[in-house]
Amino acid sequence: MKILVAVKRVIDYNVQIRVKEDGTGVVTDNVKMSTNPPDDNAIEEAVKIKEAGKATEVVAVTVGEEKAQETVRKALAVGADRGIHIKVDGILEPLAVSKILQKVVDKEKPDLVFMGKQAIDDDCNQTGQMLSALLNWPQATFASKVEVKDNKLEVTREIDEGLETIEINVPAIVTCDLRLNEPRYASLPNIMKAKKKPIEEIVASDLGIDVSPRLEQLKVEEPPKRKAGIKVANVAELVQKLKNEAKVI
Ligand code: AMP
Repeated sequence: MKILVAVKRVIDYNVQIRVKEDGTGVVTDNVKMSTNPPDDNAIEEAVKIKEAGKATEVVAVTVGEEKAQETVRKALAVGADRGIHIKVDGILEPLAVSKILQKVVDKEKPDLVFMGKQAIDDDCNQTGQMLSALLNWPQATFASKVEVKDNKLEVTREIDEGLETIEINVPAIVTCDLRLNEPRYASLPNIMKAKKKPIEEIVASDLGIDVSPRLEQLKVEEPPKRKAGIKVANVAELVQKLKNEAKVI
């Protein structure tokens, strides 16, 4: 079984996001970038399945500018076998990414595609679902447990009501939740070894996909600042304020 894992480079989740003064986006210059957190879970799961002898190859793919390759390199350092970097500059929407990934799937013919449930920069939660539709493959989204059973997968999903367990046929798309596993850290020797693993570079325009945005972004702005709170002396004062000032009880 071959597993393709899609990894996206995003602003690191610890960074305090700043909006550009002209409202055209967020500041990315000199900002720490990392792999989208659930994509780390996706790589970890694929590597674990390979270590359990149920997969033969794990291929990491990213779509993005030159520096996005760091994300693939990190995936190689935690156990992916080889990488693919689809080079494209500018803003990419989920539909464009899924059409590009469809081409990669047509070429690589994986049995499984693992992705993150959502990218923390655009919060779209669309790419896996769109890829599943384009390929006409079954999908298991928000996976918090994955078991490979011959040509089927048993997947536990995190849903609003609790946990849902489904069985789907392979080939399939799985989008991974943060609760799926604990991603490992890359050791120094493995970081060094990863430098020798191959990364294929493909220019997006060579795939014949129109990546031009279909959405017009009108404005990006920071949420309104919260007013400072107050300290109350005791519970009685708190109740009085909730009742008479906030009028919530
Ligand atoms: P989104 O639909 O944007 O919330 O992204 C969901 C998932 O799709 C991410 O967690 C990634 O696994 C994958 N993905 C989205 N954009 C890219 C990209 N540019 N390169 C590689 N994978 C991506």
